[in-house]
Amino acid sequence: MSVLQRGAKSLLLSELISGLGLTFRYMFRQRVTINYPYEKGPLSPRFRGEHALRRYPNGEERCIACKLCEAICPAQAITIEGEPREDGSRRTTRYDIDMTKCIYCGLCQEACPVDAIVEGPNYEFATETHEELLYNKEKLLENGDRWEPQLAANIIADAPYR
Ligand code: SF4
Ligand code: SF4
Repeated sequence: MSVLQRGAKSLLLSELISGLGLTFRYMFRQRVTINYPYEKGPLSPRFRGEHALRRYPNGEERCIACKLCEAICPAQAITIEGEPREDGSRRTTRYDIDMTKCIYCGLCQEACPVDAIVEGPNYEFATETHEELLYNKEKLLENGDRWEPQLAANIIADAPYR
């Protein structure tokens, strides 16, 4: 571009005008940003968020302490201890997840034969201390009770892809 052409362009403010035109075009388009945390975007049923341990509708724990999730976890974030109950069923006495080791790969939930351990839709669980992210069985069951309707709906929605 010659010096003359560049001078004319500057004088006529053509770049400014085309920039303003672009701004006005986008002013009337649908917004792509959302006002988080007051607005939230859609989440896939396969979203892998905070872990939860689920119960059966009668309140019984689903987990049978088979330890498949512990064995498959590539981050070795899960620690389980279990023993048989008086009725012969096997249940965990300890179920810990170190959420600071977890890489949210989803292998634990894939391995679980009874859909007990799942990764739910909650992604808002940041903490101030490391200790708060060392989840025990009580915390995981509490998460399961809190999110159960959505966890169950996600499993049904995801079923055709399993
Ligand atoms: S999501 Fe992956 S890394 Fe996290 S606990 Fe499950 S298997 Fe381990
Ligand atoms: S959560 Fe599932 S895979 Fe893990 S020990 Fe319990 S039943 Fe087995």
